[in-house]
Amino acid sequence: MKRKTNYAVVVVGGGHAGLEAALISHKRGVKTLLVSMDKKSVGRTSCNPAIGGLAKGQMVKEVDVLGGIMGFFADMSTLQSKTLNMSKGRSVWSPRSQIDKKLYEKIAQQHAKAVGLDVFEGEVVGLNIKKNRVCGVKLKGGDEISCNAVVLTCGTFLNGLIHIGKKQIHAGRYGEERSKGITEFLNSIGLTSGRLKTGTPPRIKKSSVNWGAGEEDFGDKNPKPLSYRTKNFKPKDEPCFSFRTKKETHEMILENLHSSAMYSGKSMAKGPRYCPSIEDKVYKFKQNPSHLLQLEPEWTRSEQIYVNGFSTSLSEDVQLKCLQTVSGLERVEFIRPGYAIEYDFFHPSQLKNTLESKAIDGLFLAGQINGTSGYEEASSQGIIAGINASCFVLNEKPLVLKREDAYIGVLIDDLILKDTNEPYRMFTSRAEYRLQLRSSNADQRLLKYAKEYNLLNDETIETLLHKIEKTEQLVKKLNETSIKPVEINERLAFLGENEIKESQKISNILKRPPLTIKDFKIKNTRSKLLNNFMEDEILFEAETLIKYSGYINRQQEEIDKIKVYEEMIIPNNFNYNEIKSISNESREKFINIKPQTVGQAQRINGIRPSDISILLVYLRRPFHVKQK
Ligand SMILES: Cc1cc2nc3c(=O)[nH]c(=O)nc-3n(C[C@H](O)[C@H](O)[C@H](O)COP(=O)(O)OP(=O)(O)OC[C@H]3O[C@@H](n4cnc5c(N)ncnc54)[C@H](O)[C@@H]3O)c2cc1C
Repeated sequence: MKRKTNYAVVVVGGGHAGLEAALISHKRGVKTLLVSMDKKSVGRTSCNPAIGGLAKGQMVKEVDVLGGIMGFFADMSTLQSKTLNMSKGRSVWSPRSQIDKKLYEKIAQQHAKAVGLDVFEGEVVGLNIKKNRVCGVKLKGGDEISCNAVVLTCGTFLNGLIHIGKKQIHAGRYGEERSKGITEFLNSIGLTSGRLKTGTPPRIKKSSVNWGAGEEDFGDKNPKPLSYRTKNFKPKDEPCFSFRTKKETHEMILENLHSSAMYSGKSMAKGPRYCPSIEDKVYKFKQNPSHLLQLEPEWTRSEQIYVNGFSTSLSEDVQLKCLQTVSGLERVEFIRPGYAIEYDFFHPSQLKNTLESKAIDGLFLAGQINGTSGYEEASSQGIIAGINASCFVLNEKPLVLKREDAYIGVLIDDLILKDTNEPYRMFTSRAEYRLQLRSSNADQRLLKYAKEYNLLNDETIETLLHKIEKTEQLVKKLNETSIKPVEINERLAFLGENEIKESQKISNILKRPPLTIKDFKIKNTRSKLLNNFMEDEILFEAETLIKYSGYINRQQEEIDKIKVYEEMIIPNNFNYNEIKSISNESREKFINIKPQTVGQAQRINGIRPSDISILLVYLRRPFHVKQK
């Protein structure tokens, strides 16, 4: 007999997207079920043992303020922590943690259990839809679960196909079944999918490496946590080791390109341009005499080592031979080979900015299924899809983050408007307002949403409000307090700066590049509510706000100027066919993507400014052109 159960929200998939979505929906008091093909793999990090990094560290902190768990779990399982990009402007400094993957997974599963989230092991093969509204999921075996909203986060599992040289294996990840049914079902109701590809390097035996030949690489002396909820952060600081490929490695790869799934002439889906395979790097950048390989432990005292930089789909024997040309890896042994995986994704232009499908009410998609690559991108979409699925069932206004609010806003806006034909990864350069999107001000940017949507507990909200208030007070103090020449000239001279002749406001002097807030004896009383990391971040943020005030204010003016277009709604039933004078290319794109605002319409790739002007004329008419 077929079993039927009832939930408000069903989240399909227990990767980073699914876990965030299910936990936040559950936290908001909505009856939520997480269905995943393998209970033991919930919270699994598929590839590299690290969370954060360029632009990604910022996203983890944003997810954290929105009540997500990625940063907190990463802090609890950190092996080594570093702030990247410190040679560049401080707005793009990005925290990154090497993590113990096994511990992360364990903490994730224990947490789900502790908070009482229902987790069910099963494979979803289709959805129940009535009158364009989702009302349940169908499981392999025939059981059904009825619900009011579904979040699909199937990652690389939909019709996943692994390539290792000429060998092909149907799988969602190495050693895990692929999923079949969802793509076919969604295609049958008109949603369009495509194929993408990603790859992973071999895992090698620790005992087979001559570690003395590598260069040891430790984390920061004063590591900073990714989560505002972390009170004590003292990671182990386990080292990674750098090795380098050499001429022989490259010659061997080029000689054996025919054994690579990607270069053997078979047509393959597109992979991430910015995470190329080793064969891509060697073939496309022949001028480079060597490439960096970072050997990273996958967990504490791990015998399994991740070879960062050597993602490949060469045949297993060639992978091994090539790695053995690297000094220090002459005797290297595999635990498992590297591989490429092709999988189905759904074109994200079919989604609203809430991550809900435009065609099916109550159906949300998040993570790699939307064509992205990366844990942080997945977790960012997961938290938004989870919040909005719960809003959907509670009949509340959905949460939409703007590009100036967060990298998460940039991510979703890019996905739905620019669509994607290659895996989308976040970069700081994708955010035009990146000066505003610092990892150190995620709380200032997003706490209002956490309060509005009830995403954090009262204690965390109170703490963060206090922190923000203290930062504002400190900025005010720096702007209002004067300093006498006698108090600062010695320091200025030491730093090679011109001395001052009369008293000046501290903020004026602090704007000089070599000076930091610590050069001024500011009495900033410590607060019992805040931990040391928060106190440090207050100093850092206040200093940043003073040093960059000119740029930040200018950027704010730009944001204010375009606000009017962001708020100008294009009705759902707007009939673009009635506008005679726009180009056919723009018309086609408007009809396909259905932008929700004029701001969105402007950002669609290839839309002419003149067509926007015409659109504005029509929108300003007393009655809009209606869809027939
Ligand atoms: C081989 C490989 C290499 C990668 N390399 C990189 C890299 O170099 N850099 C990078 O940033 N990112 C990389 N990634 C991507 C990164 O791992 C993912 O982007 C991210 O983990 C995706 O998270 P997700 O939650 O969307 O999906 P996943 O983590 O893939 O999780 C999907 C979940 O859905 C479940 N599921 C799937 N279908 C069903 C179904 N029908 N019913 C029930 N449950 C289902 C699965 O069991 C799983 O729990 C790689 C991924 C893989 C697999």
